Amino acid sequence: MNCGLLGRKLSHSYSPRIHSYLGSYTYHLFEKEPEQLEDFLKNGAFSGLNVTIPYKKAVIPYCSELTAIAAKLGAVNTLVKRTDGTLLGHNSDYFGFQTMLNKCGVTVAEKKVLVLGSGGASATAVCVLEELGAKVIVISRSGENHYGSLHLHTDAAVIVNATPVGMYPDVGVSPVDLRHFPNLEAVLDIIYNPSRTQLLLDAEQLGLKTENGLYMLVAQAKESAELFSGHPIPNAKVDEIHGLLRREMENIVLIGMPGCGKSTVAKALGALEHKKVIDADDEIITAAGMSIPSIFSKFGEDGFRKVETQVLARLGTQSGLIIATGGGCVTRAQNYSHLHQNGTIIYLTRQLEKLPTSGRPLSQQADLSEMFQCRNPLYESFADYTISNDGTLEDTIAHIRRIL
Ligand code: NAP
Repeated sequence: MNCGLLGRKLSHSYSPRIHSYLGSYTYHLFEKEPEQLEDFLKNGAFSGLNVTIPYKKAVIPYCSELTAIAAKLGAVNTLVKRTDGTLLGHNSDYFGFQTMLNKCGVTVAEKKVLVLGSGGASATAVCVLEELGAKVIVISRSGENHYGSLHLHTDAAVIVNATPVGMYPDVGVSPVDLRHFPNLEAVLDIIYNPSRTQLLLDAEQLGLKTENGLYMLVAQAKESAELFSGHPIPNAKVDEIHGLLRREMENIVLIGMPGCGKSTVAKALGALEHKKVIDADDEIITAAGMSIPSIFSKFGEDGFRKVETQVLARLGTQSGLIIATGGGCVTRAQNYSHLHQNGTIIYLTRQLEKLPTSGRPLSQQADLSEMFQCRNPLYESFADYTISNDGTLEDTIAHIRRIL
């Protein structure tokens, strides 16, 4: 079987990877311009397709039949070529969003839910939410309910982002300020790159339930794969694939005092986890074109921190890395979002008397114990996990891998 994804720009798609876990069919990326669409749909060598932006509506006239949900949503993201050569159009995003909502563990019946954006993904979310009895309000830049009238909806219990705001590469921006919604229980963002958009980072800080769009992406693929192959696939497969992808994609970020062992642990962990290891200090040296002591003597600590933040902002948007940070990266609050958007942050602790100081400008000048008093609360506020590195390297690595 020859399946694939039809769209216009697909180079960043996760779908081939997801489908490789779902079935034994081949899965290609079919990048087509609008004028190529008709010929491809009529004569292309495929047995099943996923369809993405901008063709989810454009493929409908080529379908002999639509499933009820595809007809209701007026959008098709799955095409199956039947034995007589005709096309069946389906929309598996409905199942995808439904599954994502379940995973988030929030109930929506009788609750006010704001859905941001009024495009295709919004229509799917609205359909699922209304069927579950939610009181849905669509917030659109040009609609009756817009970003200027959010004060009328501060009683919302759930917010769903169905806009591209915050998506890679334009990270670090959020469509709404969550502090204005005191009744909020959960925030869902159907974006999956970065893994935590600014909206989800803000929601996490407020202690809310959160879910990104990766689960939806995997779930919709699972339902499409069932149609391609004609065989049911257990829902547990969605969990399994989601877990595998998260482990592959999530950065592991090591923070801690200078000399606590971040670089050594990163190298050993990288070899075992088959992840690329990046030492942030090496990246800073490359970016500045000089050694770290030279950056300090020429531009001071502030100059160094500025370069460090630029480097972490760049590294943080990448996936599947192990990043050993410099000891002082926690002194700039904005570095948290850069590092956590795609990363699990691990604070490595080590007894102060074991910390070396040579070649470390700040460690040599300052009293290490004073530095620790100052930084420890910052490390703790950045950390998802705190792990002692006072034992052997093997112990530390085993502990981190247990967490992962
Ligand atoms: P779409 O049809 O283009 O709709 C996006 C909507 O977002 C627009 O209709 C617009 O609504 C709003 N919007 C666009 N730019 C905006 C901006 N700069 N500021 C505020 N609002 C803006 O796209 P879509 O297919 O619905 O996809 C939306 C997002 O969902 C994308 O990030 C896509 O990657 C993601 N997605 C994820 C999955 C998944 O499986 N996880 C599936 C489908 C889509 P208004 O004009 O009404 O404001």
